[in-house]
Amino acid sequence: MRLEGTRLGVPAIAVHGGAGEFAAVESDAESDEHGEALKEALRLAVSAGWVVLDSGGSSFDAVVEAVAALEDSGRFNAGRGAVPTRDGGTEFDAGVMDAVSGAFGALCAATYPANPIRAARLLADLGGLPEGPVLLAGAGADRFCESQGLEAMRREWLRGVPHADDAPPGALPGPSVPKGLSRLSDEGTVGAVAVDAAGRVAAATSTGGRAGQWPGRVGDSPIPGAGLLAHPSGVAVSATGAGETFLVSGFAHRIAWSLEAGMELGESVQASLEEVDRLGGTGGCIVITSSGEFTTGISTRAMARAWRGANRSPTKACILSLPPR
Ligand code: ASP
Repeated sequence: MRLEGTRLGVPAIAVHGGAGEFAAVESDAESDEHGEALKEALRLAVSAGWVVLDSGGSSFDAVVEAVAALEDSGRFNAGRGAVPTRDGGTEFDAGVMDAVSGAFGALCAATYPANPIRAARLLADLGGLPEGPVLLAGAGADRFCESQGLEAMRREWLRGVPHADDAPPGALPGPSVPKGLSRLSDEGTVGAVAVDAAGRVAAATSTGGRAGQWPGRVGDSPIPGAGLLAHPSGVAVSATGAGETFLVSGFAHRIAWSLEAGMELGESVQASLEEVDRLGGTGGCIVITSSGEFTTGISTRAMARAWRGANRSPTKACILSLPPR
């Protein structure tokens, strides 16, 4: 496990491109080039969010702009780069949350929109608390996106193609990536956390799920308190990793609640990743507080991130990694 923290000041924004193995941490020239391209996509996303913060905008708007840029880059498993389900379709999960108002919107197992995170934001505006809806799934999510005039982003990968491990009838098969699609968008789920000049924090996470997942499977990413959280105590979290374990452990809520109970930020991230580990999962997260403290934690080999803050300018992008095994 590895933790890294820095004081970004206020305002500030940080983004991630997933936690995993990351070919880019290897040292050969080809992967250096690849790593540079990832970092450039992350820097552009930070810039998209920073423009909002720098002009006095809200952290809620800033995280949407940053995540939309990552979805559009096609370099990550979200939006244009989303990986296929086991039947060759693409399903998007995305959520966005504001700490102060509690505004939250998310969609899951949606196939339609460009951009998933903009659809989540629209739902937060048009639905929201207390009556809702705050979370729409599948066909209903698609209908909502269409009704709001969002552009379609259907990606019929290779419907009907043979699978590497067609399971016997009645069995519950594990993830199976359609043959010929083993290497797609290389890296992971995307997310952003930000604090604006007024000290309000927000978080957003967007994913295509797990490559070869069951159609309809939903992980932690769009679920408040699991794959994202913006808590009124002044902490925002975006997580990535083995979604079932983050979901079942209530990952992001664990961080917020242990901070409220008096734990220090790094300790609370570590304890929450340890609970994920206990459930058999690995992953990572980025966390920002209303005072502009920024922390990353990983239990995977690496995690790609970029950040910028009042104290830390220009944008810094790097792939945090554990020592090679
Ligand atoms: N947590 C995501 C999911 O389970 C996947 C990831 O972050 O890589 O859908």
